[in-house]
Amino acid sequence: MARRLDFEDHRRDLAANRYVYAVVSRRARGLSIGVNLNPDKLCNFDCPYCQVDRATPGESSRVDVGVLARELSELLLRAGGDLWSGAPFDTVAPEMRRVADVAFAGDGEPTTAREFPAAARAAREARDRLGPGVPLRLLTNATLFHKERVRAALGEFDDLWCKLDAGTEPYFHLVDGTRLPFRRVLDNLLLVARERPIVVQSLFPAIDGAGPDDAEVGSWIERLREIRAQGGRVDHVQVYTVARAPSDPRFTPLDRGRLEAIAERARRGGLDAVVYA
Ligand code: SF4
Repeated sequence: MARRLDFEDHRRDLAANRYVYAVVSRRARGLSIGVNLNPDKLCNFDCPYCQVDRATPGESSRVDVGVLARELSELLLRAGGDLWSGAPFDTVAPEMRRVADVAFAGDGEPTTAREFPAAARAAREARDRLGPGVPLRLLTNATLFHKERVRAALGEFDDLWCKLDAGTEPYFHLVDGTRLPFRRVLDNLLLVARERPIVVQSLFPAIDGAGPDDAEVGSWIERLREIRAQGGRVDHVQVYTVARAPSDPRFTPLDRGRLEAIAERARRGGLDAVVYA
C-alpha cells in the first residue's frame, strides 16, 4: 500500500495490539488510527524505498477480525478520553486531540489479506458506532481492484488513496519492485475511478541522486489524464518522496523544489496536485 504521509510521531504505540495502531499527524491535525492487515509483512510489491522493517520477522498472515474490531473499538473509545493522559499521547497539543482518520495502511498491501472484506466491514461498523464523521480510508496499490471480493469491499471506505508512482512500465517495475503488468494497475484505477473519485499518491525518489527524468514525469501525467479522459475521476494527486531510511540506500529523498516542479507540471496538465514533503 502507499504509506501514509507526514507523521511527526512515527512510533507505533499500543504495543499490545496486533492490528490497530495510532500515530499523530500534524497535517491531518489529529490522531490517525492505522489498521494493519499484513502482520506477516508480506506485500505484492517490493518497493526499494519501502520503510517497513522486514529485517525482523513478521507474524502469522491470518487476521483475526474479531480481535481487530475489538482493538479498533477500544481505541476509538479511548480517543474520546483517557488515551491523552498517558505517554506518548499526553504530549500532543490539545487542539490535536481528535481522531483525524482510520486508515487501512500497514506492512503490506491490505487487499491481499483474505480477511480484507470482513475487516473492512468490521472497521466500518466500529467507525459508524464510535467515530461517526471520521473518514475511513484505504491506502492501496490498486493491483487487486479487478477481484470481485476486493471491489465489493471498497464500498465500505469513504476514501481510496491509490498509489501510482510511474508513467511507464520499466519505471514502474523499478520503483515498485514488481513484475506485475503496469496495465493492470492503470486498468484497475480506471475501473474504480469511473465509479467514484480516487485520490492518487505518487512517490518520487532520487535514485543514485537523480529523480525521474522529464519524459517519465510527462508519461505519469499522461496516464492520469488518460484516466480522466476515459471517465475516471481523480480528486487530487499527492506528490511526495522518501521520508525515512528505505530498504535500498540508493533511494533517497527528492528535493522539495523538484517535487514542486513535478506538481506544477501536473497542474499545468489539468490535475489538482499537492506536495507533501
Ligand atoms: S513494498 Fe511498496 S506497496 Fe508494499 S508496503 Fe512497502 S511501500 Fe507499500
